[in-house]
Amino acid sequence: MTHYEIVKQNIGNTELCIVSKHRTIDQAMVFYDLGERIFAENRASELIEKALQMPADIRWQYIGHLQRNKVRAVLPYISCVQSLDSLQLAETIERECVRIGKTVDALLEVHLALQDTNKTGMTAEEAYELLRNAERFPHIQMKGLMVMGPHTDDEDAVRAVFLKANELFKDMQKQYPPFQTLSMGMSSDYKIAVECGSTMVRIGTYLFTEEE
Ligand SMILES: *Cc1c(COP(=O)(O)O)cnc(C)c1O
Repeated sequence: MTHYEIVKQNIGNTELCIVSKHRTIDQAMVFYDLGERIFAENRASELIEKALQMPADIRWQYIGHLQRNKVRAVLPYISCVQSLDSLQLAETIERECVRIGKTVDALLEVHLALQDTNKTGMTAEEAYELLRNAERFPHIQMKGLMVMGPHTDDEDAVRAVFLKANELFKDMQKQYPPFQTLSMGMSSDYKIAVECGSTMVRIGTYLFTEEE
């Protein structure tokens, strides 16, 4: 079986987001031709280049830290910012959406890993604060959470973070029914993420490397 077939079997109904960063268009198109339509990039220039050359029905996801001065360039191409990580970024996206007449989906990126030093994203408190302000951003549809597992081989530590993420997700969903996406799980930890209630895994490395 290919890694793609293994992933599809392991994730069941969980959505698959193909992380095509650092890959060529030809490499990414293999997954398009297999029927995948959700692709992600973490750099504005690479996303724009691929979006311009790949088919228009791809739903592009932005997964890197989005600098506010890049919002204008990438916004026309993306259907979801998975890395919404501050009120200021939401303000910039809202303003730009109004300017170009677009509505965009967003996931709130939260960091829940206790010991990680290079954490990206908001605390749970900051994410609640942003949700409480959701009506200030009518052009941003806040659809859920994006979470990264801790960088460790300790599966129990990874599971603890993903379970915490699922709890937070469910609690936010009670207050904010449009919440439907819990994006968590990458090449190294997607199986644990699915066990912990992930609705979307984001996988790059494992899919793009096949053993000979
Ligand atoms: C690179 C990246 C992924 C995919 O990681 P792999 O280990 O290549 O599967 C997922 N999410 C984010 C935010 C990333 O930057």
